[in-house]
Amino acid sequence: MIRGRFAPSPTGRLHLGNARSALLGWLDVRARKGEFLLRIEDLDPQRSSRAATDGIFEDLEWLGLSWDGPVLFQSARTEAYDAALERLQRAGRVYPCWCSRAEVARAASAPHAGDDGPVYPGTCRRAPVARADRTPALRFVVEPGPELVHDALAGDFGHDVATAVGDFVVRRSDGVASYQLAVVVDDAAQGITDVLRGDDLLSSTPRQSQLFRALGAAAPHFAHVPLLVQPDGRRLSKREGGSTVAALRERGWTPERVVGLLAGFSGLGDGRPVAAAELVSGFSLSKVSRTPTVVDEGLLT
Ligand code: GLU
Repeated sequence: MIRGRFAPSPTGRLHLGNARSALLGWLDVRARKGEFLLRIEDLDPQRSSRAATDGIFEDLEWLGLSWDGPVLFQSARTEAYDAALERLQRAGRVYPCWCSRAEVARAASAPHAGDDGPVYPGTCRRAPVARADRTPALRFVVEPGPELVHDALAGDFGHDVATAVGDFVVRRSDGVASYQLAVVVDDAAQGITDVLRGDDLLSSTPRQSQLFRALGAAAPHFAHVPLLVQPDGRRLSKREGGSTVAALRERGWTPERVVGLLAGFSGLGDGRPVAAAELVSGFSLSKVSRTPTVVDEGLLT
């Protein structure tokens, strides 16, 4: 059974980039008669809100993107994350780290910095100094060597996680599971076979691939869609307000017009209004364009 998911973080309304990932993920699964699950990634209580979660439900329904089964909330999954951490601990794959962010930045052999900040140099793996004034984070012992992942849209992608990222955090010092851990534990628990998401997460995939292996789970198939960018090259998602589904709806757009635009951005059709359900038949990831789409604000009035 094909099973995909949309896993937004409820930190605001869905912008067009999120909505495009939801649409393509939904089409990919529906075209293959699979299930499409919804997971709310509300791990971070400070950044997540119930209002944003409700907004996501509303926007998806309005766009005609239905999901199957109950919604999974990461905020309710602490036990599952703790069990996974325990498993990694038993296997000797995690260690406590007392380094602060600033210390990691100083210790890293700059100028080389990974996508997600400085490469962790393994300080607390080699010479741990326990500190009474801080709760440690937990870091995952990465396997050195190339970690290659096949990606249906981005092509084969990989790097040596040890030199590109270093041992990464799986439980933060505030006790909350990290995004990397939570996403892998949940994808495994939900039996996700196909992950489609924005290519800002492509660089996380080798890390996640290692975690799947360490937890004895099969990694899903990945497809990373190119970002929507503004004419100046910045990610569309960074802009507040104007490019959300909710804002377009308030401006009188119909769901079909939004879906038509997103389909057009993706190389599916000519941009004319269309219902999501009408795009299911004949959909294939191989038809999705693989270049970043420049979105001119003029399109969104
Ligand atoms: N929650 C993540 C986000 O909204 C997506 C996680 C994923 O798809 O793996 O960016």
